[in-house]
Amino acid sequence: MQPRLDAQKAAPAAYQAMLALETHVRKSSRLEPSLLELVRLRASQINGCAYCIDMHTKDARAIDETEQRIYALPAWRETPYFTVRERAALAFTEAVTRLADEHVPTAAYDDVAAHFSPDEVAALLAQAVVSRSFAIKNRGRWEAFGFDAYADTRDQVYLGVAVETDQAWDAVRRTAGQVLEYDGDVIDAYFHSTCGFSTAGIEEAFAAARTRPYLRPVSDDRGGGHYYCDISPRFRWREEWDASKLRAILSRTLPTVTPLSGDGLQRITDVTVSRTTRSGRVGELRIVFERGDVRIPGPDVRSVLRPEADRMLASTAFQLTVTKANGAVTRLVAAGAGSGHAVGMCQWGAIGRARAGQDYRAILTTYFPGTKIEKIY
Ligand SMILES: [Zn+2]
Repeated sequence: MQPRLDAQKAAPAAYQAMLALETHVRKSSRLEPSLLELVRLRASQINGCAYCIDMHTKDARAIDETEQRIYALPAWRETPYFTVRERAALAFTEAVTRLADEHVPTAAYDDVAAHFSPDEVAALLAQAVVSRSFAIKNRGRWEAFGFDAYADTRDQVYLGVAVETDQAWDAVRRTAGQVLEYDGDVIDAYFHSTCGFSTAGIEEAFAAARTRPYLRPVSDDRGGGHYYCDISPRFRWREEWDASKLRAILSRTLPTVTPLSGDGLQRITDVTVSRTTRSGRVGELRIVFERGDVRIPGPDVRSVLRPEADRMLASTAFQLTVTKANGAVTRLVAAGAGSGHAVGMCQWGAIGRARAGQDYRAILTTYFPGTKIEKIY
């Protein structure tokens, strides 16, 4: 069979300087978040995964998806609410998600190929394959996810097994029924957007989590001063708070993790990283007041030190620069790396590794050390 996609044409200039990369990412028509959420939600509906449907419905609302489109999604063909591009993506998603060991119907493929670049088609494929795997693992496990799902799963992107674009067709069949196992059990397959330099151990990201040997820090260093995920628009970031903004944010967020005495917040005299985790992230943040201090455990840092009231900090991988005047903090700058909880597979790193020629098996067993890919049906 002829490969349907031309890998040469598909390969973008992947490893430019950071600024150029960001420009590239912005300019190239990558899958827009609203479309990705629709695809994830539709795949979850077909897979019958209650947890996934709940998560993606919330995620869709969080990026201002309309109620009308969310309700209409199962019957999208019969409604006027979806664009031509979205309809092509949904048709393709349904074809791939319903796939067992059959091939993607040619009509669905040709339609999607007309509206998406080869890169994007591979992303859609990866999305569908991983959504199916995740659903198999988590079906019926609603109670197991009864923790505060917001902070834990907001960044739990179903990213995927990164597939080389010209092998996309074969990859679908090759991965049908495959899951990752450790010691004979299907693993908790965590994913995140961008690790920034190294993934994190699960105990770094979730307070109550027990350690798992396959969820430990894995370097994303590819040599030559580059990282596999440096193609991500969130590879490096910077946030800044002036005195009043810092005060306004902390006044809202601190009471959710620690009781504050009396008349609100005292003068903030310092903010420091008081402990670092084994992968090099913030393990504890210390906020110092005129009298006393508060120590924020790593897993709570992203929701406490928010850039905006409605937006969590991108990651716990950051360094702080504090400016003071008259003993009080007047400016706080966080220079950070990556996006998400950093546990398990790095989505942008997986794409970077695929572009560098790694196959999906190598990628998965790198991010989940000691695991094996097993075919369960
Ligand atoms: Zn990474």
